[in-house]
Parts: sequence; structure tokens; C-alpha cells
Amino acid sequence: MGFNQKMFGLGSKRSIIREIFEYSKTRASEIGAENVFDFSLGNPSVPAPADVNDTIRTLLDTQSSVLLHGYTSAQGDANVRAVIANSINERFGVKISPNMLYMTCGAAASLSICLRALIEEEKGDECIVFAPFFTEYRVFIENAGGKVVISTPLESNLQIDIADFESKITPATKAVIVNSPNNPSGVVYSEQTIVELCRVLKEKSSEYGHPIYLIADEPYRELVYSDVTVPYLMNYYDNTLVCYSYSKSLSLPGERIGYIAVCPKMEDGMNVYLAVCGAGRSLGYVCAPSLFQQVIARCIDAKVNVDAYKENRDLLYDNLTAYGYDCVKPDGAFYLFVKAPDKDAFAFYEKAKAHEILVVPCDDFGLKGYVRIAYCTSKQTVIGALPAFEALARECFA
Ligand code: PLP
Repeated sequence: MGFNQKMFGLGSKRSIIREIFEYSKTRASEIGAENVFDFSLGNPSVPAPADVNDTIRTLLDTQSSVLLHGYTSAQGDANVRAVIANSINERFGVKISPNMLYMTCGAAASLSICLRALIEEEKGDECIVFAPFFTEYRVFIENAGGKVVISTPLESNLQIDIADFESKITPATKAVIVNSPNNPSGVVYSEQTIVELCRVLKEKSSEYGHPIYLIADEPYRELVYSDVTVPYLMNYYDNTLVCYSYSKSLSLPGERIGYIAVCPKMEDGMNVYLAVCGAGRSLGYVCAPSLFQQVIARCIDAKVNVDAYKENRDLLYDNLTAYGYDCVKPDGAFYLFVKAPDKDAFAFYEKAKAHEILVVPCDDFGLKGYVRIAYCTSKQTVIGALPAFEALARECFA
């Protein structure tokens, strides 16, 4: 066949999450939506802040078509980048210049650009990901010509296993991706974990004589439910690139808006930023949506109300652990990562499905024997599902 078979493979194989989501729609038409407990998809259930919607209306009524719908510069509107840079500097005590920010169509684009900017295929570059990890990392890394290397976590708390991480670094390691709060576990990596991780990165960078870049994938940064803080990685490691997205933090996943921030203290940082610009150009990720760039600049302090997610987390965690399920209490994101009885994720997924509960078997997330429950649903769905989870537990743990 005269076209790219790798791309054909990616396009023709639907992800398991999409597969389940489609099944959920069919099943809802058969037995009624209220009888299907769909926890498959990470689509925010909390609405975007009112401020965001009001700003869109005001912008449409008051601003020029060129500002709202025209091209911006490839890396994004300079004023918008200045507002974002100020906000990052105030919140995290760094000194980012707007000239080290690149506006993108969300974290997926941010990651694809960073990986393309850093990875040199001809050198056999490797990128380390920490299990459990967002499955698309594999697609993005391989598309940039890199090799995926998986570091397994400490199973007791799903924090990074520093010894395992250290053993996975080779002279070919170019980058590592850290995602905290984590999809699919909801775990926030502790400051101690981050300090240790960065110590190893510094030691290995100097041992091998080249920087190992830290890519911080942060779409869930604002979704935390306890008094834990999510360390800002630039404050721990200079060779950091932050991939941020407003998809979850402002409940705007369909609007495709986010950014890349290059640490001002990065070695040769301005040139890395230029490689980011080049990668954006080569991938066609230039000029992120203009209207939403303007919205972000005016709603820089807006926040979604995370109380509903917290309520769902508490209901699910408290009840599921009481029924006998084994899971780490998530501090952030909107996922609960549950150990499958007998460590057979697929069998557990099928059993849950028979109770009309739809969860995602997670073997593809780099850690075998778990399912993910995305609790970005209505509270009603959670409450409705509890008796089904209890019946499932009786069946599994009898
Ligand atoms: N990274 C992680 C960990 C995610 O969970 C997601 C989306 O669910 C993304 C990146 C991509 O997000 P975006 O919608 O900003 O492209």
C-alpha cells in the first residue's frame, strides 16, 4: 500500500478508551443512560468558569475580527504571552520571559513539539516515562523518532521508584516526562520524590556530559483536593520544559489551548526555545487559536470549582476501599486507579461491564493489573454505581 503504514496502524486501531465510550452510548440506548455507569473518558464534567463564557461574549462584541480570528505570530500573541509569563512568575517565583513561551493547541501539541525539538532519532535517543502513564506518550515519543523506556513505580504508593529510574538511564536518555497529578493514578508526586528525581538527573547529565531534559506534563496542575502542593519543576531542575494546558484546569478541552514554557535557567535555553519554534513549525502547530489566546489573557486567574470532583473522589475512595478494593487515595486529577483482583485487568473490566460499570483496563498504561475509574462524572452516576461496585466486590472477593 502506497502510504504510511505506521500512521495507518495508529488511525485504524481505536483506543480502548474510545472503544468503551462507544459501547457506553450503544448500551445507554438499550437500557437507559441512568443504568450505565460510564467512567471511561477524562472529559471534564465541571463547567468552564462563568468568567470564561462572559469573556468570550464580551470579546465578540468589542474586539476586532483580526484580533479574535486572525493569525497571531507563530509562537502566540506577544501580549498574551506576557500575561501568562507574569502569572507564572508570580505564582512560582521564577523569571520566565514571554520570549520563552510558546502557545499551543493543548498539552498533546505541547508534548509533541517538545519531543520533536529534543529527540535526535539518528542518535537513538530514549525518553523515560513513569508508569502508570498516559498512553499517548508512546505515540508522541515514537513519532518524534525516540524510544520509549518505562520506569516502574513503587507499588505501595505509586510514587516514582528512584532506584528503578536510575537503572533505566543510559547515555541515550534525552528526556523524561513527569505527569503530576497523574493520569491514570491521580497521584501527586511528593516534593521528596521530585528532589530525588532531580538529583539523579543532575548526576547523570554530568556523568554523560549532556543535559537530560525534564518535560513536566501539567494539564491537571490545578485539580488537587488536599493541602498537598504540586512542586513547580523549574524550581528544582534548570533543564525543564513545562507543557501546560487549559483543557482540564478551565474545562476547555475542545478549545485546544495551552503552552510550552522553557525554564529561563536552561542550559542554552534560547536555542532550545528556537528548536521548540522549529518543531512547532515543522508539525504545523503554529498560531494557537487566537480567540482562546485572548480569553486566557483575560481569565488568567479564573478557576474551575473542583469541589464536585473532590466529592466524587471521596465517595468512590471511601466506599470502594470499604468494599475491599485496593487503591491509592488520589490527591489530584480525576482518576482512581484500582488494583484488579488476580491482577487481571481485562477480566475485571469484563466483570465490571456485566454490572454496567465501565472502567478502563490499564495494561497499556505501563503497569499491569489495574483499571482506571474517571470520576469526572455527575455525582448521581457515582451514587448510582456504588451498589453495582458492591455487588462486583462480593463476586470478586468471595
Ligand atoms: N497529558 C495527559 C496526562 C492527559 O491526561 C491529557 C489528556 O487527557 C493530555 C496530556 C492532553 O491534553 P490536551 O487536551 O491538553 O491536549
